[in-house]
Amino acid sequence: MSRYRLLPSPAQEAVLRDHCAHARYVWNLAVEQHAHWRLGRKSAPGYLVQCRQLTQARAEYPWLAAGSQTVQQQALRDFAQAMVAFFDRQNPAGRPRWRKAGRDEGFRIVGRGTQWDLRRTSRKVGHVWIPKAGWLRFRWSRAVPDGVKSYRVTLDSAGRWHITFAAIPEPVPGPGNGATVGIDRGVVVSAALSTGALLTAPGLVTREQKRLRRLERKLARAKRCSNRRRQLKQALARLRARETGRRKDWAEKTSTDIARRFDVIRVEDLQIKNMTRSAKGTRENPGRNVRQKCGLNRGILRSGWGLLVRRLEDKASGRVERISPAYTSQTCSGCGHRDPESRESQSRFRCRACGLQVHADVNAARNIAAGHAVTARGGDGVARPVNREPQLLVS
Ligand SMILES: [Zn+2]
Repeated sequence: MSRYRLLPSPAQEAVLRDHCAHARYVWNLAVEQHAHWRLGRKSAPGYLVQCRQLTQARAEYPWLAAGSQTVQQQALRDFAQAMVAFFDRQNPAGRPRWRKAGRDEGFRIVGRGTQWDLRRTSRKVGHVWIPKAGWLRFRWSRAVPDGVKSYRVTLDSAGRWHITFAAIPEPVPGPGNGATVGIDRGVVVSAALSTGALLTAPGLVTREQKRLRRLERKLARAKRCSNRRRQLKQALARLRARETGRRKDWAEKTSTDIARRFDVIRVEDLQIKNMTRSAKGTRENPGRNVRQKCGLNRGILRSGWGLLVRRLEDKASGRVERISPAYTSQTCSGCGHRDPESRESQSRFRCRACGLQVHADVNAARNIAAGHAVTARGGDGVARPVNREPQLLVS
């Protein structure tokens, strides 16, 4: 992903703001449709049905019809993708939420050649075509990757416009020597490799965490609709963006590194979604240890594990295998003896049979590296069959 500063004229800016409003309107309609859906009911309308509904709505409302159809359709597509991510048990994302004016401003354009195009006019300036707005200038602050297919335009809370071009990530070739690695997801460390490496996704440093908490407290006390409140919100948003940025950067570098060093990458077939959702339980069956689980769950989601696996599947498509995590933490990776007692603590494993002592997460990672795939899936992106047949791989 590469982001550039967009420099619209006042007239163009008005068009961009309309695009944002339309995208938000359509997205929120989709959120509302799905909010009414409950388990057991007929399913909420999918992308294609929503597209037909959009066509009808455009016929009825001139305001909507005046806008770009691409912008509106892409908002539905974004929503569909957000729902897929939400329901993906392997790499869960949050439920798509309501978009607020002034907070979530943006839209996406696809279809290079028909809907949009790109040209460089000088060393520092590029022009990009945006439907209904024409050619817009942007700062050519770094090379635009080859083969970009789509872009997203966003407006931040400070009033700055940005454009982000999306290119399909280049697959990273493996070493070709059959090297296999197992990766265990941890809470304290983000990932443990069977090679013994312990990886931690960076977050905010202590000083920044303190500042974050201080700002949150101040925000809680700030008067509604005050300038002060707006400033605090901006400062908080910047801090959170910094945290997300670091994590993304880490997932990007780590996944490239792993994809380059190993031919076969085995990860736990974790159902993080279930782990993170089980705590609250239902009214009839309230969850146990809700508080403790909340803490643990935050850790899992924060550790950047889901993001790492997603990027691995993008870059090492077809080389990532899912391994059943059953007993990987109780089994000795040296002699195969299985005993829950062997796991002495969060981080310590000492085999009751052969006495092997090793970091518990590394032990699990070694078992995963030796494991047999329960499902083998490449990095596909969106469509996934609901019932996946288990595939046993000969290794
Ligand atoms: Zn042993």
